[in-house]
Amino acid sequence: MDIFPEATNAEETLDPPDWADVGALSHRILDDAIAYLEDVRNRPVWREMPAEVRAFFGAPLPRSPAPAADVYDDVARNVMPYPMGNIHPRFWSWYMGSSNFTGALGDFLAAIQGSNLGGGNHAAALMDSQVVNWMKEMVGFPASASGTLVSGGSMANIIGLTVARNVKAGVDVRERGVGAMPKPLRYYASDQVHSCHRKAVEALGLGNQALRRIQTDAGLRIDIAALKAAIAEDREAGFRPACVIGTAGTVNAGAVDDLRALASVAAEEALWFHVDGCIGALIAIAPKNRSLVAGIEQADSIALDPHKWLHAPFEAGCALVRDASQHRNTFAVTPEYLKSTPRGLASGEWLHDYGLQTSRGFRALKIWMALKEHGVEKFGRLIDQNIAQARHLTRLIEAEPALELMAPTTINIVSFRHRLDGASEEKLKAFNTEIMLRLQEEGIAALSDTTVQGRHCLRVAIANHRTRRDDLDLLVAEMLRLGREIAATATLM
Ligand SMILES: *Cc1c(COP(=O)(O)O)cnc(C)c1O
Repeated sequence: MDIFPEATNAEETLDPPDWADVGALSHRILDDAIAYLEDVRNRPVWREMPAEVRAFFGAPLPRSPAPAADVYDDVARNVMPYPMGNIHPRFWSWYMGSSNFTGALGDFLAAIQGSNLGGGNHAAALMDSQVVNWMKEMVGFPASASGTLVSGGSMANIIGLTVARNVKAGVDVRERGVGAMPKPLRYYASDQVHSCHRKAVEALGLGNQALRRIQTDAGLRIDIAALKAAIAEDREAGFRPACVIGTAGTVNAGAVDDLRALASVAAEEALWFHVDGCIGALIAIAPKNRSLVAGIEQADSIALDPHKWLHAPFEAGCALVRDASQHRNTFAVTPEYLKSTPRGLASGEWLHDYGLQTSRGFRALKIWMALKEHGVEKFGRLIDQNIAQARHLTRLIEAEPALELMAPTTINIVSFRHRLDGASEEKLKAFNTEIMLRLQEEGIAALSDTTVQGRHCLRVAIANHRTRRDDLDLLVAEMLRLGREIAATATLM
């Protein structure tokens, strides 16, 4: 006799009625994905979406089911053909990595296993800690340091700057808040510092004015004498100098602050030394260029970005803190429902005690699989390769009278512009912007633009394992062609 008649087949689930159908569709998706990457070089870097594609995303909330194959067809038709473009060999906009297939498999498997990396006693948690340990080793941090995988560099910087605030506050800032601090804190960074630090000091309750931007030298590195003067001035004025942020690879022009000099200033002045290494921390694994970031191993905290030069699929950032107890003391809170047990699933340390998130994704797997497959030495060579490619482009620009280098090339970022005889700065900006937009719209290459030392310029950031030198040769040829075409139509000029 059936005691619970309504509990037999009545419940619903998200699992498919027939796993064999799922297999067929999944194999098709996988085949399409492989073909997609194999063919990436032959597609435009970027293209504008037609009106019907834009309209597709206005569709209302689906209320009733659709076959999974139809759902995939929608994605194949409306999403896959219109990517941002950063997996393409000629994408050099802003600053991001170009992903990799093994990493994508890692993301898939992480979702299949589905573990929550808030912590607990399971294999994914051990792998998460192992990847953090590997990151420490890459930048020369001691094994006793701590760290956490986060969404990206911005979050990793917030982690470091929060630990700095709590250690230097002069009160129990967790309990009493910034209002109870005896003196307002001051942080220091170069005027090239990434915008996420502004958001960080604002969110930390210190205010944007607490982040003093120090002038840079001709190489766009923080001016050490000016830094020392600012610290002295602030002490005199009743502030508490708390933290110096060194940038290993500025987003504007790829400048690398003198990290050794910053480490000594921090030691002399008893400041926290944080390194924003979102771009450049991993140069520490590049055999030909690692001396550029010497001193990074002396930092108190480092932010780095595996979704940049390790090409992890988004998102993957990493914060490292030299003193694990300072790190943990900044974030650890153990509510009743998350108490550890001596054995079983809830034994061991909670990974969420090292940051702001409670639930955390299994980001480690995509990084782990790609590192295992290729080995860290290959990633180091790829970094050297990108830096060599940037030097190649720099030489092409220097040899071409129509082009002008706008900042020294230190690593993999090249700032330059197309000249235009007799044109004002304003016209040069319009002319170069037009070149940049046509390069995008014609699907040739994606560059971005910026302002360096008050002058507008175009910017190529090569954090791309698919770029080849002939892609850069093509870029120069196409820029010259577009320059001629735009100058000839003269609508702008
Ligand atoms: C990219 C970058 C960041 C921000 O990192 P996200 O991963 O985009 O959050 C911070 N600082 C520098 C120098 C960067 O290049």
